[in-house]
Amino acid sequence: MQFAQFASYLHDIETVSSRLAITEKLAKLFSELHTDELAVVPYLLQGRVAPAYRGLEFGMAEKSLLKAAAQAFGLDLPDVARHVRTTGDLGESVETLRRAFMSMEEKTLSIAHVYGELYRITQATGEGSQESKANILAFLFTQLDPLSCKYLCRIPLGQLRLGASDVTILDAVSWMLVGDKSLRSKIEKAYQVRPNLGYICAQVVKMGVDVVETISPQVGTPILMMKAERLSSGAEIIKKIGQCMVEPKYDGLRLQVHIQKYKVQGAEHKEQVPNDKKYSVEIYTRGLELVTHMYPDIVDAVEREVGCTNAIMEGEALGYDETTDTFLPFQQTIQRKRKHDVAEAAKRIPLRFMAFDLLYMNGESCLHKPLVERKAQLQSLIASDASTIRLSPHEQVTDPHRLEALFDQYIGEGLEGIMAKRPESVYKPGAREFSWVKLKRSYSSKVNDTVDCVVMGYDAGKGKRAAFGIGAVLVGVYEQSAQRYLTIAKIGTGMTDEEWKTLKANSEKRIAKSKPDEYTVAKEMECDVWVHPHIVLEVRSDEITQSKIHTSGWSLRFPRLERFRADKRPHDATTKDEIDTLAVSQKN
Ligand code: ATP
Repeated sequence: MQFAQFASYLHDIETVSSRLAITEKLAKLFSELHTDELAVVPYLLQGRVAPAYRGLEFGMAEKSLLKAAAQAFGLDLPDVARHVRTTGDLGESVETLRRAFMSMEEKTLSIAHVYGELYRITQATGEGSQESKANILAFLFTQLDPLSCKYLCRIPLGQLRLGASDVTILDAVSWMLVGDKSLRSKIEKAYQVRPNLGYICAQVVKMGVDVVETISPQVGTPILMMKAERLSSGAEIIKKIGQCMVEPKYDGLRLQVHIQKYKVQGAEHKEQVPNDKKYSVEIYTRGLELVTHMYPDIVDAVEREVGCTNAIMEGEALGYDETTDTFLPFQQTIQRKRKHDVAEAAKRIPLRFMAFDLLYMNGESCLHKPLVERKAQLQSLIASDASTIRLSPHEQVTDPHRLEALFDQYIGEGLEGIMAKRPESVYKPGAREFSWVKLKRSYSSKVNDTVDCVVMGYDAGKGKRAAFGIGAVLVGVYEQSAQRYLTIAKIGTGMTDEEWKTLKANSEKRIAKSKPDEYTVAKEMECDVWVHPHIVLEVRSDEITQSKIHTSGWSLRFPRLERFRADKRPHDATTKDEIDTLAVSQKN
């Protein structure tokens, strides 16, 4: 398909706002694409060239785009900047300016060609790279038609905002195949194993929907992490799942470690293997972010403490105090999640990686194997004298008293509680089911529960906080079935000055021009400033009470910030269903 035709589809999609209409239009677009194009178009629709976990960024600020436009149209930078100020939209300005230069010869560039150029932009690094990026874009501006230019420049700017989320794209593939969304959950199962949208879409269209049964984990592609349900006592857990495997619940950072042995080990190929390393290691967070560079100590430990051809294991990384032989609290562990001064932080806060699951080993998926088998294989993977990578302890329990005793023991050791898992359960990527049940200190009747909320907007500050420019924050939970955010609280107190400042700074990067379509908010709760769903806060409250004003139907009483959950994506926030259950169990 020509990029110009693609741009007119984007224009068409932009004119509608309901998810259903977007899905139908995307389905129409997909039906006209070649499978090779279908492998990349899902990313272009999201303003990227590859899955987010690949970490390929355009790294172009608005200024570079202005420069590209000025260069393409032979204008002065201040003139372009002035034009953008009048339209308030760089894409529209570029379209108008391109129209004024109709004399430039338009070329019929394909999607593949433009994609290749955009990819080149993500690859440019180092000195002079801003200039090369602008040159690539400028040249494209001179060749493409005005409408294409408008959408082209929105891609690196991250301003397409077409509502083409991963789920909507999967819906559209289903729609294209059968005229409704009925195949989405089937396709989504494959996506949860291998969340490479382009790959999944192209495979399904090329091979038919049954191909999803054959999609298996791949080392180097993060698998969506399995989640836990919650119950409030040992007795409830045993009643619900019977005999279970009990493990400590750590309060650290959930990591998925991908390990691949280098193929060429012979002396003649030595230069291909960095520093005589045995393994190539990649580490992902639960938000599917590639964070290998943050954990050099775990990468080194894999060299010494693991033996396999390849593997994907999961566990919780925690700061560790060797002198007292104890884990550090989350506030200290989280300091390891940083881009700079990594070596210094690794020295100051050494980590232990408590491995609790194995998803792939030696070329074979372990997802369908029962937990007991996965644990046994995991044990065989880790050296018995390993110090950084440890097998998380586990015990089979049938007696609720024993379960409670383990809970008390782990709480006594400063941990969060326990995880009880069905011994026969398979690993279901992305699922939250009763195969895993968490029992945390905060669920016992003595202390209150926390809820992970998404920041939806805020009011300008009054009084002391006028200085910060942020007063009460509107937060919400996620309704999975409708893919919408529903309000649950306005938080106006209980944050330190530092936390208000951080929240303001983070929110400012996500400001929306108007209330995002995926928010359902009552009039009384409208905000001065709307924020796109991105920031997740863990919120503590005294009680969950029924509400006529909050669209979730519930309100948090005395809500206060427990901590920022940078490890969670907005879709991972507490769901409306979870709140319904929590509220009811709390009454009981
Ligand atoms: P919470 O706020 O209770 O940590 P969550 O919403 O962040 O829960 P859940 O998936 O519901 O995430 O709870 C499981 C989380 O607990 C995992 O993401 C993981 O980080 C952590 N965890 C700690 N110990 C274990 C363990 N032994 N097995 C599985 N997950 C564990």
